[in-house]
Amino acid sequence: MSSIADNLGSVTRRIQKATLQAGREPDSVGLLAVSKTRPAGELRAAVAEGQLAFGENYLQEALEKMAELADLTGIDWHFIGPLQSNKTRQIASAFSWVHSVDRLKVARRLSEQRDTGLPPLNICLQVNINNEQSKSGCQPEDLPELVHEISQLPRLTLRGLMAIPDPEQAEPELRASFGKLADTLNTLRADYPEAGPLDTLSMGMSGDLEIAIAEGATWVRVGTAVFGERSPKS
Ligand SMILES: *Cc1c(COP(=O)(O)O)cnc(C)c1O
Repeated sequence: MSSIADNLGSVTRRIQKATLQAGREPDSVGLLAVSKTRPAGELRAAVAEGQLAFGENYLQEALEKMAELADLTGIDWHFIGPLQSNKTRQIASAFSWVHSVDRLKVARRLSEQRDTGLPPLNICLQVNINNEQSKSGCQPEDLPELVHEISQLPRLTLRGLMAIPDPEQAEPELRASFGKLADTLNTLRADYPEAGPLDTLSMGMSGDLEIAIAEGATWVRVGTAVFGERSPKS
């Protein structure tokens, strides 16, 4: 049986190796430990190993874990799940990043509701890179308008793009999807130099983080390879 400490060690080595092979700076890729469905005790074990960035998909579940881990300092909470307008207030105050912004209405609410005592909320725009009807994320052609509008919102910092490509794709197609997201970010950075740092590509998961890093990922979102297989959500 492998422990969270062992798993974090092997994921970290995978990230380091891929980063080196891509000729990138060693600290240019962050590990976001995706802890949806995992109990607070497992996050505590990861924090003991120095892991501080966690990704959560469900607000209520995340708030419960935050309360259980309130004695720990330095945890960086990232919201990566589907966003409902009626949940934005709590998300805007409890998280430091939201990776899954896909429409202006939600961005406006997050900006209005972000506590003035906190630094601006870091956001990524989630892009539906494979044009699948079923998945969340904006269409690539919606990005220029979204970037333009969001750059005016005072309590948000636009950090970049996020995507969840269809995991059934073969490696060349997956690589092309990640590459397309990276190209899109470069274009936006050139076209909207004032829009924000646009320095972030949130892409790559347990099964494909090496490909994502080769294509420029700056956050890899890794669940299973850190915490083990998830049981189906009941
Ligand atoms: C669950 C999830 C992940 C992690 O997936 P693994 O395959 O378990 O690494 C990454 N990103 C998002 C948005 C997720 O919902």
